[in-house]
Amino acid sequence: MAMLDQGWSGKMISIIEPSPKNSDDRTWSYWAKDPLLPTSVKQQIFSKIELATDGKRQSHQLNPYRYYSVHSSTFYKYAKEVLAKAGVTWLNKEANDLSENSNDVEVTLSGEERIRADYVLDSRPPKIEMPTPRYNATLQHFGGWFVEMPINAFDSEEVVFMDFIDIKDGVAFFYVVPTSSTEALVEIAVFSEGVWDRNAYDDQIHSYILEKYQKAPSKVFRKEYGVIPMTDEPLWKKSTKRVWNIGTRGGWVQPSSGYAFTRIARFAKEVAQQLTTSPQIPWSPSPVQQVFNSVMLGYVIDNPKKAGAIFYNLFAENGPERTFDFLDESATFRQTVQLMWSCPQLPFAKRAIKEIIARVSGAK
Ligand SMILES: Cc1cc2nc3c(=O)[nH]c(=O)nc-3n(C[C@H](O)[C@H](O)[C@H](O)COP(=O)(O)OP(=O)(O)OC[C@H]3O[C@@H](n4cnc5c(N)ncnc54)[C@H](O)[C@@H]3O)c2cc1C
Repeated sequence: MAMLDQGWSGKMISIIEPSPKNSDDRTWSYWAKDPLLPTSVKQQIFSKIELATDGKRQSHQLNPYRYYSVHSSTFYKYAKEVLAKAGVTWLNKEANDLSENSNDVEVTLSGEERIRADYVLDSRPPKIEMPTPRYNATLQHFGGWFVEMPINAFDSEEVVFMDFIDIKDGVAFFYVVPTSSTEALVEIAVFSEGVWDRNAYDDQIHSYILEKYQKAPSKVFRKEYGVIPMTDEPLWKKSTKRVWNIGTRGGWVQPSSGYAFTRIARFAKEVAQQLTTSPQIPWSPSPVQQVFNSVMLGYVIDNPKKAGAIFYNLFAENGPERTFDFLDESATFRQTVQLMWSCPQLPFAKRAIKEIIARVSGAK
């Protein structure tokens, strides 16, 4: 879609995707000053966020930011309509092998069919090695329930952004995204090296709802589960002249937070622009942001019990606007350094120096 916005003809683009992409396999939330999707696409919009950790709670009115949430089925429907209208070919197949030549790339599809392309943007789910001594890496895994409550449990203006809970290994927080005063998505996000059995997410969600709202849900409409890597491995360096890794495979999931929707929109635009320039240079992110993300991710992995306090203090001391700018990587270098002042200063400074040295010496 970013390529169409950039003026590419849809007839020059093919999408290879084995899934029909019509299910609600995830729910994307993001913060932004202006919505990333047109008003014709249904999104939940929130003007307040809540954070909680260690028995403390804070609620913030958002201005000029808003918090948005869109169901994947809604987004897929919209995207498929835009692509079809532009004449983009949709091949309902798997891409199994890519063979790059000096002039093009041969893509072998399921059923042994072969097609050729000048460039391939590859977003197939990557294999991430874990643990790795060289990089900061863990998994973010999710379990979520879409529930109906027998009481008016939710404030439909407010999203629970992060409500940290204690777990044995790793970091975990809940987020609650209401669709009305009685219905919401209640989801747990966990940072740890191994995914859980589905029952373990379900048990945590059930206990959280009972404890927070003093009632069990009257209905569970749907459940969602998923996993993404959180790593500062520069996955985009695996791109070659004609095969560019994008999305999770390209390192577009923010290593420090696991958020990707806004980054994907921004980086897709950059990739579409770079494809129209000559010579085409595969995309890579800014070094300052790489260091910031590595410092945050490394600290959270090594100090899981302190993760809640880091996020809580960032919002409490700087307010949502400056913190969202910072997490969004749109703050200036000076603002970024100021915000990091709210974090444990000496450990963060030591890690920042280590990360800069690793990059200057080529170790990362
Ligand atoms: C449950 C969950 C909730 C999330 N919530 C948020 C959120 O609220 N906000 C946010 O910013 N981020 C969120 N994320 C993170 C991130 O936004 C998503 O993971 C996002 O979908 C990543 O996009 P992607 O294109 O890299 O991967 P995907 O969306 O996973 O797409 C990969 C595609 O590759 C296809 N595929 C697989 N094998 C092949 C093959 N051989 N050939 C061709 N295609 C293939 C798959 O069918 C799939 O469609 C969430 C992630 C999960 C898992």
